[in-house]
Amino acid sequence: MKASRTNESQEKLAVDSCPVTQAVGSVHPMPAPAELLSTIFGFDAFRPGQAEIVEAVTAGHDVLAIMPTGGGKSLCYQLPALSRDGLTVVISPLIALMRDQVRALTAAGVSAGALTSGNTEEETSAVWQAIEAGELKLLYIAPERLASGGTERMLKRANCSLIAVDEAHCVSQWGHDFRPDYLRIGGLRRALDVPLAAFTATADAETREEIARRLFDGEPEVFLHGFDRPNITLRFQPKDQPRRQILSFAAARKGQSGIVYCGTRAKTEGLAKALRDDGHAACHYHAGMEADERRNVETRFQQEDGLIVVATVAFGMGIDKPDIRWVAHADLPKSIEAYYQEIGRAGRDGAPADTLTLFGADDIRFRRQQIDEGLAPPEMKSADHGRLNALLGLAEAQRCRRMALLRYFGETADPCGNCDLCEAPPELFDATTEVRKALSAMLRTEERFGIGHLIDVLRGTGTDKTRRFGHEDLPTWGVGAETPKHQWQAIFRQMMGLDLVRPDAERHGALRMTDPARPILRGEESVTLRRDTIRRAERRPAVKQLVGEEDAPLLSALKARRRALAEAQGVPAYVVFTDRTLIEMAETRPETLDAMARVGGVGATKLQRYGATFLSVITGDAPEAPHPARRKLAGRTEGAIYDRLLSVQNDLARGETGHDKPMSCSSAQLAKVARAPADPDAVARIIGDRHAARFGAAFVDVLREN
Ligand SMILES: [Zn+2]
Repeated sequence: MKASRTNESQEKLAVDSCPVTQAVGSVHPMPAPAELLSTIFGFDAFRPGQAEIVEAVTAGHDVLAIMPTGGGKSLCYQLPALSRDGLTVVISPLIALMRDQVRALTAAGVSAGALTSGNTEEETSAVWQAIEAGELKLLYIAPERLASGGTERMLKRANCSLIAVDEAHCVSQWGHDFRPDYLRIGGLRRALDVPLAAFTATADAETREEIARRLFDGEPEVFLHGFDRPNITLRFQPKDQPRRQILSFAAARKGQSGIVYCGTRAKTEGLAKALRDDGHAACHYHAGMEADERRNVETRFQQEDGLIVVATVAFGMGIDKPDIRWVAHADLPKSIEAYYQEIGRAGRDGAPADTLTLFGADDIRFRRQQIDEGLAPPEMKSADHGRLNALLGLAEAQRCRRMALLRYFGETADPCGNCDLCEAPPELFDATTEVRKALSAMLRTEERFGIGHLIDVLRGTGTDKTRRFGHEDLPTWGVGAETPKHQWQAIFRQMMGLDLVRPDAERHGALRMTDPARPILRGEESVTLRRDTIRRAERRPAVKQLVGEEDAPLLSALKARRRALAEAQGVPAYVVFTDRTLIEMAETRPETLDAMARVGGVGATKLQRYGATFLSVITGDAPEAPHPARRKLAGRTEGAIYDRLLSVQNDLARGETGHDKPMSCSSAQLAKVARAPADPDAVARIIGDRHAARFGAAFVDVLREN
């Protein structure tokens, strides 16, 4: 510890000492989890599966829980931490997530802190003080901290009574997220001799076994919860002017937070610009950017409503934003696991969320090549091809996509009614003849050519190449002339999706036939394909509304109030209230604080802090109370000028480019400017040189207009 340990003037950033905390820390017996769920977190009921896990962890059992993203994982250790004596240490690799959770817990009146490399010295000292005082209930630490022996001694002294491990799959040496320091957790558990609860969203049977072996001595109690995320709409489209498809998807969801995943860094920049040109707030993100540029994007995304981040897969790990309303893939993801993890970032608050995944023959070729040219051993490569096939099978699915997705994760389900295929079942046709023609064209040309040339052969389209290779004399020449070119492309793409043909990396993507295609070629099996799915998407596909039409204006007023409160405190909007809570407010319209307390997500602390102000939005008692400085101008010309200034200021809040640090003038300053002469120096005297640099010229223009 380098930082000085005591300093009275320090801000108690990470520790809150409001009455609820003290009650939690000192009253015996400890409150029951279900009671805390309502008083602290403001929920009436557990989400499916949460209750059993909370019960087992509270009882001090060793627990391994596999829950899908958004299943309410964090409550499963936070509630036991509050209803047990002593300190719970939470080990997580995600610094941003730890900081957000501490912030959210503190806002709910819980004493929590984090020791991470992202801390300021003040934050670190405040955490130490709370530990020394025996007040802290939850301590978040990064795995790297386990490497120092001091951590173990500190936890012993702090009466640590429970270890919670987030992202437990990081202990798996064969996984993609392996963190060597996770291997120390088993030792820590033995040294402290306390129960351990491990959580993860992604673990197949082998990884589960590995986690159990490395983290626990005996057998933990295992909870395996469903992978279904019914609030997420699943949608795939073959690429057809992909940029336009993404722009049209985003246009239908303007003002909502979303992520667009792209296959390359260059594409993130181009697409972000196209979105900005189309009037969206959008920025790009990839691993090639400077660390602080990336952090800036992460912070903005976390805090702003309605920002679109166009990113490579580098973006997402550690983003814990519950109100991401949509995720689009401009390119096909790498595997079904990656797909599930990436779309799973949408709609964690349980409110409706949308997804769109674009795919084309180029993607399939690119992904196959990536696997083939990689350095993995052959059996790993064939497993990777298998995982890609599963995703392609999902892309080309002929029935409910959710059934296909859940089947992959070992679950069964009925048609969901919330995917593109349930909405509009695809038209299928017996494509055995076409597929046999295509396979035969491949074999006759010795499996040495790609799709473009094969289609020329099938359609009898003469080129230099067909002449040079003598392909115009083949028996298959022109046998598919009646099928248009774009339909042949769709047939080949679906054949790749069904793994009947594979591009061969060693032959520059020439198509080769696979074993499952042989019985079709021999006429022993038939094959059903989707009638060409390529057609122009409508400009604006219907969007699911979060609330009914009659509640929409109230919801947007509630959101505006939330934004103002969040900006004033410098926290993300959902820390004030989640979308889900605001939706419930808009729908139930509580008229008293008592009724407000019954809304999900409104705990005692938040009721006290925000109840009255949101109530006034609903009852309209003090509708959007204007600032006193503006009220004084009401009914006068200056009033209109003030409003213009305010709107100009909003437009420039982040500078001309939209990338600068946010800046604004006080209401009193704006009221003064509204009465000032249209003169740059006069304006600068009121708002100061720094603000004048950004707003001065625009303000003078407003004054000149009048
Ligand atoms: Zn469905």
